[in-house]
Amino acid sequence: MSKTDGEGSSSENVVWHSGEVSRTEREAMLGQRAGTVWFTGLSGSGKSTIAVEIERRLATAGRLCYRLDGDNLRHGLNGDLGFTESDRTENIRRTGEVCRLLVDAGVIVLASFVSPFRADRESVRDMHVAAGMPFLEVYVEVPIEVAEQRDPKGLYRKARAGEIRGFTGIDQPYESPDRPELVLPTASSSVEASAESVVELLRVQGLIGPA
Ligand code: ADP
Repeated sequence: MSKTDGEGSSSENVVWHSGEVSRTEREAMLGQRAGTVWFTGLSGSGKSTIAVEIERRLATAGRLCYRLDGDNLRHGLNGDLGFTESDRTENIRRTGEVCRLLVDAGVIVLASFVSPFRADRESVRDMHVAAGMPFLEVYVEVPIEVAEQRDPKGLYRKARAGEIRGFTGIDQPYESPDRPELVLPTASSSVEASAESVVELLRVQGLIGPA
């Protein structure tokens, strides 16, 4: 991993200390190539459900992956952040850094975050590209009417009732990806079919070997 702190950052007088074991070595131990699969889409689109299914399949195949889930990280690392635009940006920036650490450790990361702003997702992509790490953006696409009907956490109902402010798709925008590596239309594809498409993408990109 390279040092990427920008000029003027509070860490400008901190010197990067390199280790003696490389990511390539760790990947060889694990028999895989590490990278981040970034799921973006409306709340209720199916990001977490599909990531859980992929994690199960990869674990069964002996591959080390780790799920980062927006809701889960907000219980801990990002517990101080809300849902304003600037807090959402910081939420994604921190998460991107965690992805980078995990990828450096050799792990295949499955990150499920609404991540409504294109620029924030692009920053995470740039961070990966700068470190020579794969970043695969997966757009979990669903019409808002379908997500609202599913409403697995009852959040759309609360947003419509005005009990939640700044809810993506209701009173905050969602900016869909321009060039995602994969689109999963979950109103018409099953969880199993979506999971299989992602596993196939991992094969094509060389993160895992043939079935
Ligand atoms: P998100 O993580 O995007 O907020 P969740 O995975 O928490 O979404 O919720 C999606 C809900 O939609 C779940 O209750 C899931 O069972 C349901 N669902 C129905 N059909 C699908 C599908 N084809 N793909 C993914 N989820 C689906």
